[in-house]
Amino acid sequence: MKRQTLYISTSIPYVNATPHLGFAQELVIADAMARHYRCRGFDVRFQTGSDENSLKNVRAAQDAGMPVPDWVASHAEQFRSLKGTLDLSFDDFIRTSSERRHAVGVETLWQRCMASGDLYRRYYRGLYCVGCEQFYEPGELVDGTCPEHLAPLETVEEENWFFRLSRYAGPLRNLVETDVLHVHPAKRKREVLDFIDQGLHDFSVSRSRERAHGWGIPVPGDPAQVLYVWFDALGNYVSALGYGSDDDSLFSRYWTRAARRIHVIGKGVVRFHAVYWPAMLLSARAPLPTGIRIHDYLTVDGIKIAKSEGNAIGPDDAVARHGTDAVRYYLLRHVRTTEDGDFSYARLAEAYRTELADGLGNLLSRTLGLIQPGMELPGRVRDPELSELASRLPRDIEDAVERFQLHQGLRAIWRLVDAANAFVSRRAPWKLAREGDEVGLQEVLDDLLTVLESLARELAVFLPATARRMQDVTRGARLGERPVCVLFPKD
Ligand SMILES: [Zn+2]
Repeated sequence: MKRQTLYISTSIPYVNATPHLGFAQELVIADAMARHYRCRGFDVRFQTGSDENSLKNVRAAQDAGMPVPDWVASHAEQFRSLKGTLDLSFDDFIRTSSERRHAVGVETLWQRCMASGDLYRRYYRGLYCVGCEQFYEPGELVDGTCPEHLAPLETVEEENWFFRLSRYAGPLRNLVETDVLHVHPAKRKREVLDFIDQGLHDFSVSRSRERAHGWGIPVPGDPAQVLYVWFDALGNYVSALGYGSDDDSLFSRYWTRAARRIHVIGKGVVRFHAVYWPAMLLSARAPLPTGIRIHDYLTVDGIKIAKSEGNAIGPDDAVARHGTDAVRYYLLRHVRTTEDGDFSYARLAEAYRTELADGLGNLLSRTLGLIQPGMELPGRVRDPELSELASRLPRDIEDAVERFQLHQGLRAIWRLVDAANAFVSRRAPWKLAREGDEVGLQEVLDDLLTVLESLARELAVFLPATARRMQDVTRGARLGERPVCVLFPKD
């Protein structure tokens, strides 16, 4: 039987600043999901990249006194290198300003929307936020400023290309309402339906080459205009798969024929992904995403992450303190996936000490420390509570991923960790060893070793390096070796 294919992406960040923990959260969420579906037998394509054709990047490069291409290349590299920092398993990283496949993909998208009669020129005057790269209606402003940045907007007046979004209100509403396009969680789905119900306005999909400082992909057939950054950026989801190119085998395998196409995004870009992008695909007569999974924002010490606040912690800093898996653990467990969450170094240190080192690490080292070569360890869990928790763990995790509540997956794992530690205290294997109760000791250790094997299997999705080490040493213990392993050293 052919394996089902699944496509999953993160949004692509602007590279006008260095990566911060908020985007790291999105990456590790998507990574855990990609790993989960791979473990469950799907043929997965996990994709990320960098959004480079934006005015923000031009301004940041100008401020730095660097040519724009060099500037974006060096910043894109910082994002790409998160693969190592955060132990990510993405298959592809697309750069939107320098890669031919991207230009081919979005040009194709443009031409197909044009062929559907959905692109037209119009004179326009509106209020624009460069931070968001979007126009706002006067009614959306907060005290006359951008609702996202609380910064003043620029009045922009020019003739642009527009996309006939208004035409797709009915079909879009129906697709979202029936979950054919599954916007999750439900509060975001309601937001999208409300937005559609307020009436969809056609939106600008180009800007003058002049206003773009010559940076960006020229509009096919109209080189005085460049593609609007969102039309361009959203196209990355298919351009990376070779959409519009001579070889579209990846597009066919991971998009057209995929069982599921999932975008993981933050709550700030919902309307682009749940309204504009599906409308563009409807117009281009290409399949739509099947799922949009939306996480909320991360604050640091209770304050929204912003360069101006000086609290934009880099993933590298956090990883340097306690290691990759501790950071993944914190972001995946201590931030509820669909709610705002907070990061602090104090709570990272606390989680590291109590849950990782004293909880999981201690369970492993205590168990290994008592195993002797030649013991009978058939691989069975006799204790009813441990057996019940271990056997339902795969289901609990399946459920957590499907409901996009990844923190509940780690909670379920830690229920088993805690129960196993309580079991150790209750059964006191060191006492059994002292008293010469060989059979009792072997049974307790076999229970624990088998539980550790289950934990390692399920942790592979969340904490891959930790899981690999656990798999190595538990395998060694079964083979009669006496492995020593400190998963989370304390200083
Ligand atoms: Zn803004």
